[in-house]
Amino acid sequence: MDKQKSKKQFKNYTLLIRLGLTAVLAVVFVFVFIFAGGLNYVYGLSGKIKCFANNEFEVHYIDVGQGDSAFIRFPDKTTMLIDAGPTSSGDDVCEYLTDLFKQEKIDCIDYFVLTHQDADHVGGASDVFENFQINCLYRPKVYSNYEIQTFGNPEGYEVSTTNVYNSAIVSGYNEPNCKIRYSCAGINWGNEKYTVKFLSPNKDNYKNDNNAYSPIIKITYLSRSFLFTGDAESKIENEVIERFPEELKADVLKVAHHGASNGSGETFLSYVKPSVAVISVGKKNSYGHPNSSTLDRLNNINCKVYMTSTYGSIAMSVDSAGNIVLGGKSATVTDFALIVSIFFIAIVIVWGVKPKSKKRKKSKKYKQQEEKAKNK
Ligand SMILES: [Zn+2]
Repeated sequence: MDKQKSKKQFKNYTLLIRLGLTAVLAVVFVFVFIFAGGLNYVYGLSGKIKCFANNEFEVHYIDVGQGDSAFIRFPDKTTMLIDAGPTSSGDDVCEYLTDLFKQEKIDCIDYFVLTHQDADHVGGASDVFENFQINCLYRPKVYSNYEIQTFGNPEGYEVSTTNVYNSAIVSGYNEPNCKIRYSCAGINWGNEKYTVKFLSPNKDNYKNDNNAYSPIIKITYLSRSFLFTGDAESKIENEVIERFPEELKADVLKVAHHGASNGSGETFLSYVKPSVAVISVGKKNSYGHPNSSTLDRLNNINCKVYMTSTYGSIAMSVDSAGNIVLGGKSATVTDFALIVSIFFIAIVIVWGVKPKSKKRKKSKKYKQQEEKAKNK
């Protein structure tokens, strides 16, 4: 009786362990599924864009680690790229765009905006010029080494002597049929469905303040609007509040300067009133971006924050009802096959391996004794 009782207890114990392990595996599976983009894939919201039912208008915040790069596609098929991330992400940007262009039959970038001279924005530009036809470059009123040597500097523009900025600008000059223009407040284009308007820079020279050259760009599509800010800080925010107070309101804000504390001030946010914010930022970056004070200010206005460090590349569109549709990290069929297979293999291991019981050991011994007896 006692043996039977202990056998039953042992079975119950094994069952509990198996159920426990299965529960843990199921939780891990759900987490991996969600973070690998499973939900987006299932609901057709993948960042890889087969996604949007209405793909007249799309905004892609491309994951470039610590840096910025955003691609916009307009209803008339005009395309725009704002920044190209750091040098190390040039290939990633090109790969992302190549993939997207194939799906959407896009063959060129109409407007390429280099917000300012910093490497985390212009580093990948040479790769972009190499891989795509660029029709127009908007760049800061900051001269590169090449321009100083070629044209001198009669206007007294600020000069950036970095190699990374120089190669971005030289690539622009070498690009066939590419117009080169300076970013400036007031530049605008569009049609009855969309508009693009530069709200800054409002000055020609910001004297060594690299971030200040960043144009704040407002893009509207039907009833929705998106604000791009480069690395503009409070000084520029105040400039724009003064000149274009009525035009700052936007549904989606690309948070300035990777969420640094010196941008996205309370007053600025009170003009923009964003319901969604995107922070383009690298995982565990050495700058401590985004700053907790910036996140607090966004939380205080109930703004939903998406970071590329968590979500990877983030894609958005606006559906026919005017809702902002969100895409995210895209999963492929292979990702799925892998996740599901690992889960099932783990389940088979948990339920398929039989534990050794004392009874079985004994019965083996008994069998051996029996055989010995037979042989006698
Ligand atoms: Zn930056």
